[in-house]
Amino acid sequence: MMDFYQLSSKSPNPETPDTGWFFEAKKTLLCKGCSSPRVTGKPIDVVLQTQPDRSAVNIVHGVCIQIATNALLQGLFPEGPHESLLLGKVLGPERKEVAGFVTLMNRERLLVRGNERSTFRVCPDCQRVWYSAIGKRYILKRDVGSANVYESQYGGLVVSEDVAKRVIGGTWRNLVIRKLELRDEPVDGLNLPG
Ligand SMILES: [Zn+2]
Repeated sequence: MMDFYQLSSKSPNPETPDTGWFFEAKKTLLCKGCSSPRVTGKPIDVVLQTQPDRSAVNIVHGVCIQIATNALLQGLFPEGPHESLLLGKVLGPERKEVAGFVTLMNRERLLVRGNERSTFRVCPDCQRVWYSAIGKRYILKRDVGSANVYESQYGGLVVSEDVAKRVIGGTWRNLVIRKLELRDEPVDGLNLPG
């Protein structure tokens, strides 16, 4: 089985959504229970309070929307990242589109798990599993499908080794690339739904 790598952000500054946008989005785009984007199969646009902090990947605080630079995505997917991911617009102050950044989502999700101190809760509204991983991170072999890129909640993207290799060694601001252990069984002792 091929190895997988997690691409996540060590930016000290998650992006802050624009208050007006957030208020409107809560009525439509976002789950009323947990404020994460509703799964619609369509990309999501986001309005930020300030310009993004230039990290290669980052998260928008409170709404679980991930943003990334086009440069990183082109590095990962030279054939075009839109083949693998749903890409939306990032808007800044005065709702002007921010060049070089997109939001990203993927129907393919993968849970990066941790040790027995990890916890989870399930959103009563959208049934999304909110998992908080503690300790050494791994993925379960049975969770891995045929995709070469997965969205990982909180944790950026999980990509196969052949994809990760394209950006390893590059200079990407605040980007952490780490290899994930592949396990047959979880060690967190948790019974996750589905
Ligand atoms: Zn929810």
